[in-house]
Amino acid sequence: MTGGSIDLLVIGGGINGAGVAADAAGRGLSVCLVEQGDLASGTSQASSKLIHGGLRYLEHFEFRLVREALFEREVMLDRAPHIVWPLRFVLPDADGVRSRLRIRAGLFLYDHLARRRRIPASRAIDLMADPAGRALRSDLRHGFSYWDCWVDDARLVVLNARLASSQGATIRTRTRVTALERGDEVWTATLEAGGRREFCRARVVVNAAGPWADRVAALARDNAGPVGAQLRLVKGSHIVVPRVAGAEDGYLFQNVDGRVVFVLPFETAFTLIGTTDVPISGSPADAACSAEEEAYLLAAANRFLAQPLSRDDIVWRFAGVRPLLADEGVENPSALSRDYHLVLAGHSAGSAMLTIVGGKVTTYRRLAEAVMDRLAPLFPGLGPAWTASRPLPGGDIPNGDFGLYMEGLVRLYAWMPEPMLLALARRHGTGARDVIGDARRLEDMGALLPGGLSAREVRYLVANEWATTAEDILWRRTKAGLHGKMRGIEEAVASSVRALIPSA
Ligand SMILES: Cc1cc2nc3c(=O)[nH]c(=O)nc-3n(C[C@H](O)[C@H](O)[C@H](O)COP(=O)(O)OP(=O)(O)OC[C@H]3O[C@@H](n4cnc5c(N)ncnc54)[C@H](O)[C@@H]3O)c2cc1C
Repeated sequence: MTGGSIDLLVIGGGINGAGVAADAAGRGLSVCLVEQGDLASGTSQASSKLIHGGLRYLEHFEFRLVREALFEREVMLDRAPHIVWPLRFVLPDADGVRSRLRIRAGLFLYDHLARRRRIPASRAIDLMADPAGRALRSDLRHGFSYWDCWVDDARLVVLNARLASSQGATIRTRTRVTALERGDEVWTATLEAGGRREFCRARVVVNAAGPWADRVAALARDNAGPVGAQLRLVKGSHIVVPRVAGAEDGYLFQNVDGRVVFVLPFETAFTLIGTTDVPISGSPADAACSAEEEAYLLAAANRFLAQPLSRDDIVWRFAGVRPLLADEGVENPSALSRDYHLVLAGHSAGSAMLTIVGGKVTTYRRLAEAVMDRLAPLFPGLGPAWTASRPLPGGDIPNGDFGLYMEGLVRLYAWMPEPMLLALARRHGTGARDVIGDARRLEDMGALLPGGLSAREVRYLVANEWATTAEDILWRRTKAGLHGKMRGIEEAVASSVRALIPSA
């Protein structure tokens, strides 16, 4: 990439970079997004996968963030009903952690801070009568239920990249920014991809490098100070076990240390348990779930579950690094704000660099709008906000009714096993028909792999979603890797996928 300059270079293909690229391109800017690895290969693949208001943030009086996040649940349900759906949470009473009155007050606020259309209200429940009680210790009688939303985080990133691309943005994966030089009017970024070096000239740089944001800011020397000081890295880990019997809802368990731990239904056959808050200072790329974190999560879940879990039950574990906004007055990493902060620097001569610090998957769209608001003075004639009412690719399901849409698919593709069709519909929404294409019988889908993946879908992901390795396909575009791992055939599945990828 050489020659003329573009309006915006977005560094980082996580949810925030992809969201900004889509918003900016749709408002008429020329945009290039560069990601050093695969899309969503940083923190955005390792979240708890919730579009949530964040009930516990109320305890830290983060009303602005909670209101915005609660509102986004409804927006995202409309925009992407294939990868976002309502999830009921059960919060059993826990002696000595929080009083019922305090929880009731928190849930009242949660119900009323933002308009709800499709999200039901919270209520008190009897765990002896409610089916959710089956997974819990039999002496647990009382609790509450409330609703948030589930999201496939890695696919949310890819769908935003696709939206950006459909609006004219260039998406470059496996492309790393190694230097940033500010000129009078434009930045010159050095990009390294596949051993080759190129240059990209851009009026404005958006640093959306998440936990790497201080390192990217340091590439442009005059920006390093403010960002480095504002970023605090906090690791969070999850463990995955086979689906806990009876646990079809999400659970919010209060731990003895006052933290809360999620126990969530995951990928039809699994339960996801997380998370932890561990401050780190090393490279975000080295973050891994430690034995202590595993033990912590098992103990937190076992306080409430009817059938205790052990280390032997764990089929997968992963860790991600939260790029949080530092606050000198706050020691406890769980208490650090999950809100975002934008640092605009170096714009005296017309070129600018905007660094994103913090943020959540839930609020990425609002964050992108805030970025556009900050950059608007630099781009006279910038188009208006547009993303709230625009479905993400595959999200144009009539009335957002995924169940009805699925019924139609079952009639149309009666030859396909329903679990495979469901997996396709969840991943691609209305795009499932493009994946199936001219296939008329199961054999036409090619080799069948775990998790409803087929050779035909692998080829589609390579052609349309920037997937270039087996890992991209098995762990981010799909979770087929997890299904293969569960069956002890992870390596065989990976090599089948590799064989389907051109030049892999
Ligand atoms: C354990 C955990 C649980 C969470 N749960 C939730 C949740 O349930 N709901 C929620 O809303 N939020 C949740 N979050 C928060 C959310 O995941 C993060 O805020 C969000 O993913 C951050 O996205 P990002 O785009 O800023 O960063 P990232 O996803 O890390 O993206 C930054 C990207 O920049 C790239 N990059 C870095 N340097 C360069 C370079 N020099 N050149 C090119 N590319 C570069 C990286 O490879 C990376 O992909 C959770 C976070 C954690 C850690």
